[in-house]
Amino acid sequence: MRLTVLGCSGSGPGPTSPASGYLVRADATRLLLDLGNGAFGALQRHLDPWELDAVALSHLHADHCADMANLVVHRRYHPTPPTTAAPLLVYAPADAPDRLAAAYAASAEERASTDLSDVLAFRPVADGARVGAVTLRATPVEHPVAAYALRVEHDGTSLVYSGDTGPCGRLVELARGADVLLCEASWPHVVPGRWTEPPPGLHLSGRQAGEHAAAAEVGRLLLTHVPVWCDPAALLAEAQESFDGPVELAAAGATYDV
Ligand SMILES: [Zn+2]
Ligand SMILES: [Zn+2]
Repeated sequence: MRLTVLGCSGSGPGPTSPASGYLVRADATRLLLDLGNGAFGALQRHLDPWELDAVALSHLHADHCADMANLVVHRRYHPTPPTTAAPLLVYAPADAPDRLAAAYAASAEERASTDLSDVLAFRPVADGARVGAVTLRATPVEHPVAAYALRVEHDGTSLVYSGDTGPCGRLVELARGADVLLCEASWPHVVPGRWTEPPPGLHLSGRQAGEHAAAAEVGRLLLTHVPVWCDPAALLAEAQESFDGPVELAAAGATYDV
């Protein structure tokens, strides 16, 4: 299984990376995890978007799904779609049809008649869905909106993506023994004058990402979703303090063997 980081900038795109988007390839299967701002362009450096088998959205904040509007345009208006083209499977929180229609439509009037089901086939984020050669597992995590961590399994290997979450025991359970934990780290653990411990239910610090990796005994930790206003090196150092295994910062455009 191979993971390609299309974008890893937290909370929005940055000067060196789109927002969240991750391409997972296993045998002939092409699964996309999230499609934030700018990630649809980056995707096209790696494959023809028609080759996608499915998209899984961790949650519906714009930095994780904004480019779905562009994917809809591509599938709806491409002049020469493959003759075999069917609506693309989209595993997403229940509000996705409304949320993505709202992101696509330019006015309230257009919104009222927007239906994306001609190009997207929405499915609930289900634990155990089979997508081609991989199995997709999921668990709800701690974020202000419905949000999921996702686990992709293939041929004895496993990749877990945290999505956006505060500290979460269910993330540890889902990630247990995974080869790679692609985990968000969105702020420092201590911010002098502001907090000595991050507020719960939102995001993880670098230290907390490392703690989750250690508790789940994963093989390797990739930190992602670092916002432009944070120092990535500081978050990496925090994670290295709390996790003994290999840790690195996810890099836009990089491909990792899982
Ligand atoms: Zn986010
Ligand atoms: Zn979020």
